[in-house]
Amino acid sequence: MAPAGVLRIVRTRGELREALADAPRPVGLVPTMGWLHDGHRTLIHRARDENATTVVSIFVNPRQFGDPADLAKYPRSEARDVALCTEEGVDLIFAPSVEEVYPPGFDTTVKVGAVAEPLEGAARPGHFDGVATVVAILFDLVGADHAYFGQKDAQQLLVIRRMALDLALPTEVIAHPTVREPDGLAMSSRNVHLSPEERAGASVIHRALEAARLLHRRGERSAEALRGEMRRVLAEEPLAKPEYVSVADMITLRELDTVTGPALLSMAVQFGATRLIDNEPIE
Ligand code: AMP
Repeated sequence: MAPAGVLRIVRTRGELREALADAPRPVGLVPTMGWLHDGHRTLIHRARDENATTVVSIFVNPRQFGDPADLAKYPRSEARDVALCTEEGVDLIFAPSVEEVYPPGFDTTVKVGAVAEPLEGAARPGHFDGVATVVAILFDLVGADHAYFGQKDAQQLLVIRRMALDLALPTEVIAHPTVREPDGLAMSSRNVHLSPEERAGASVIHRALEAARLLHRRGERSAEALRGEMRRVLAEEPLAKPEYVSVADMITLRELDTVTGPALLSMAVQFGATRLIDNEPIE
């Protein structure tokens, strides 16, 4: 390890293992695709608080993108990411090439079952196979004690928890609440693609989730009524093109008829060429 407080950037599997061989434990990992924002920052901050060594991975994982155009336009700036990691006192950045993560001949996929199927899994075939595969590699390479994921990607969190449990991976998966802009829009690297009008309109997503949450708090238990409420609020914003609106069981992510326990309100909404997702857990 470099001395405490000095950020080191490594790019190969070998360098990563070597850098972590004698790292003070516990080791915390924050996996990211870069273009870091304040949502990532809070995950990193928490990892710093709870671990002796903090590792941030920056890897735009081609296997989790179905659409090559979406992958090509994903925002990237290592200099910007390194600056944020330096400010936050990160010890190590792992920023590998695609060939380093998937060397020639790579032919293994980690596929999680039922929880990966609905919602984002249905909308983006293969997406969670790509996520689970890269996270399994990262968990193994880093050997982290703790790994931090955002509630923003609620289904991803469930998929990774399932994988970690089923494969007996020793890394503990820790969830962190969604960090939002002042108008409620969930922070996302993709927000940079929104035009000023789309950006202003995108706050409707959080308003729709909040409206349904409020309705539930007032006693509404019909999932269809809650979906209807979300659709109603979304319809107030002409730039919002809803892809799905869901009220699902918090554990299985199966769509509900009646909300009797913990559930997840979630949606994917297109604004121009940008697809945004968000969610709100309800008890
Ligand atoms: P990404 O770089 O988009 O793959 O995100 C890396 C990690 O940061 C994932 O665990 C995300 O869920 C998490 N994350 C992204 N945006 C937010 C946010 N607004 N609030 C909390 N966590 C987030």
